[in-house]
Formats: sequence, C-alpha cells, structure tokens
Amino acid sequence: MKRRAFLTGVSSSALLAAGCGAGGGKAVVKIATKSSGLAEAPVATTPTPVPPPELISSADTVFQGGAVLISLVGQVKDGSVTFLERTRPLGQGSQSIYSFVGIEAEAPPGAHPMKIDFTLASGSKGSLMSQAVVAKTNWTIDSIIISDKLAALLDPKLGADELTALTRVYSGMTYEKLWSGAWAQPVPGAITTRFGEKRSYNGAPASGHHSGTDIGAGAGAPVGATNSGRVVMARQLALRGNMVVVDHGGGLFSGYSHLQSFAVGEGQAVAAGELLGFVGTTGLSTGPHLHWEMASGGVVVDGFRFMDGTNGF
Ligand SMILES: [Zn+2]
Repeated sequence: MKRRAFLTGVSSSALLAAGCGAGGGKAVVKIATKSSGLAEAPVATTPTPVPPPELISSADTVFQGGAVLISLVGQVKDGSVTFLERTRPLGQGSQSIYSFVGIEAEAPPGAHPMKIDFTLASGSKGSLMSQAVVAKTNWTIDSIIISDKLAALLDPKLGADELTALTRVYSGMTYEKLWSGAWAQPVPGAITTRFGEKRSYNGAPASGHHSGTDIGAGAGAPVGATNSGRVVMARQLALRGNMVVVDHGGGLFSGYSHLQSFAVGEGQAVAAGELLGFVGTTGLSTGPHLHWEMASGGVVVDGFRFMDGTNGF
C-alpha cells in the first residue's frame, strides 16, 4: 500500500527551485522596432509552473530492522535521502527515483527527521523535509553451544574483518533498478533463527544482532535468488562460508551463506528464483541451513519484512 506523504512538508526552497525550473516564469519584453515606432509595455506572461516533486513513503512508522521505501516522483534527475545521520543516493526506478531506507537494529525509537535533497531535470536543486517514526522491535535471545573448533572462529577480529569487507560490498550503489515485483523466500523450510536475534555463544553474554534469517533445509537443497539482480560476490568467507551476494540495484543486496557449493559466478545476471547454489554448513555453522541476509545502503535488514507487508510495500 502506498500513500502520498507530507505534501505540507514541501520546503519553500523546494517550491522555489521547482518554480524556477524548465524555463517557466520569465516575462517577455517586446522591444520597440523602427517600423512601428511604438514601444509596447512589458507583457507579463503566465509562468508555466513546474510542480514540485512528490514524495511518497511506503509507511511513516518503520520497525528497527525494517526498511521504508522512499520514492520521489516528478521531473527529478537525481537525489539523496538523509535519515539518522546516514545519507544514501536515490536509485533510478521505472516511475521515480527511490531508496529502501534500512533501519538499524539499534536505531533509537521515536520520530526522526528525514531530508530529501534533489536536482530537477532543469538543474535546479531543492529539498524536502519529512519524518519517519522508528518503532521498537523486541529482539529475542538465542543461546548456542558450539565446538572449540568453531569457537576459534569467534575471534572478534575475524568477525569484524569479515563484516568490514561485506559492508563494503553492501554499500555499493547500482542506480539501475535490477529487481522487480515481489520478494521470495530463497529456500523452503522453517525459520530456525530470526533476523536480529541477540546471540549467546557457549553461555557468554548475549551480544550483537543476527545479521540474517536462518532457514533450516537439507544439505544440497537448491537456493534461489529472492529477486532478480546481478551476482557481485561468490566466494568463501571465514564465518559465512561459501557466500553469494546479489545486487538488486538501488543500493539493495541479498546474501546467501554457508552454501555447500556455488551454481553462479561473479558478474552473472540472475532472474528471480534462479539457482544460486546449494544449502550446506560451510563456515561458522552447526548444521545445514541457509543464512539469508538483506542489506540496504550498507545496513542489514530483515528479509521477511520484504515479504510480510510490515514495511508498507
Ligand atoms: Zn545465521
């Protein structure tokens, strides 16, 4: 469900920028000629108003770990959205420029301003102010007992290095929209660990948030792309094991970890549901399952909220 939002929030600078765009608003002054010998008074013409771009938000309340879809419709060339001190560019959609604004698991609940900067087709710049309310998600705690061998992989530096490398991939931006339509669960199976759960390994205090959704499935089960895109990574990582990352365009990515083997290579375009690899237990894993991540603008978010309607899209 989409709705128009915050028309009253259009800033004067946006209206000014929009109103001056596309050559509208110039009065024409006729110059006297020798043949007529008469000077005509300046004639005021009716300016051709360029309507300000319209901001459409999928929801005005979004959960920690969720994402809100921000679209800017009108004669706009490019833009960016700033929310909770993160600025991300808007990608090119079919009818608008847009971004999925990912909300971090620890984003402070409450109302926060959102600023959209844009450049009109005419080159004029403007901005719109809006806001979104972050609602609290009640994260559960998952206690996990693992072997000494796997515990060695819990070296914080190892995890931090992997996350840094992965965040670099997840922070990429392809302006072209590569996804379309609905999002699908990559492999059938029960959810064994939800996105965002806090984890306690071998009785240690719970920390962090689970960066994806764990889906229980048998070793060798085929894993399909949650939506169409391009494979930007297919390689082995220390914790996530064999991992495929798909770029969906507009700053949105999906990741598939602990794979037994790959069915795609880097650079390959994939259709929605296309085979990426097979469920396995490579990396930091206690048994065959798929660890499915979604990331928007470098922020990991709950993939299930792309399917259950709670993001408003
Ligand atoms: Zn997992």
